[in-house]
Amino acid sequence: MKNENNARGLESVCAALAEICGAPAPACAAPPAGELLAFAANRRADRLFMYDPDALGEWITDKYPFLFPEAFECPFSLPLACVMPSVTPVCFATLYTGALPEKHGIRRYEKPVVKTESLFDAFIKAGKRCAIVAETDCSMSRLWLERDMDYYIYDDIARVNAKAFELIAEDRHDFIAVYNGNYDSAMHKNGPESAAALAEARANSLAFGEMRELIKSLWKGHGTLLGFAMDHGCHEIDGGCGSHGLDMPEDINIVHRYDFIEKTE
Ligand SMILES: [Zn+2]
Repeated sequence: MKNENNARGLESVCAALAEICGAPAPACAAPPAGELLAFAANRRADRLFMYDPDALGEWITDKYPFLFPEAFECPFSLPLACVMPSVTPVCFATLYTGALPEKHGIRRYEKPVVKTESLFDAFIKAGKRCAIVAETDCSMSRLWLERDMDYYIYDDIARVNAKAFELIAEDRHDFIAVYNGNYDSAMHKNGPESAAALAEARANSLAFGEMRELIKSLWKGHGTLLGFAMDHGCHEIDGGCGSHGLDMPEDINIVHRYDFIEKTE
């Protein structure tokens, strides 16, 4: 169930990212989100940096805005409805192929390599170097394997984020996707509004903010589109735990945030 403001589907993001970055839209991608194109109008990014926090639903970012000052600093926000079932591999497969589940083929919680053309493939086609930085066995570490790109997979989030900083400093990739599943893990275990989960939500915004600052100071020769882009939301269940996967507003409605860092030299 989507809110009125979340008429846009998650599938509309992919073709917009491709167009702004001068890559061909992936074969099965839905038409691009016009608002995102308009945000980037007359600007061309040659780089894309996607920070993907898991399960940060719109109701959480709305209810606790003070936990997300770095993400909220992004000048453009895009309310979206994710796809069903609202679980991680299904939604990230839609985000990065632009296709609905019936087209990309992941329709339940499973993590096969996605064969449908993805944004990574589109960037590779355009001669761009791509990297994924993610936690071991998470969806993002598995869905996009078997491509001519770089994979940095680690057991813990501190190493994931340290590698992300290192890659920004190395300055050799055109598209970096960083996955952080720490809010999702704490939310499942302790509930979406537990102190433990909210501390991880705060950590997500901070990590994004630090990565953006590093990009601002080190990628001056590039126009970079930056996304704070989650897969789905979450809701509380019995026993003080959290879950997602249902067609309910808490699980379906999300807000992506985008920033554009201009080329300055
Ligand atoms: Zn997820």
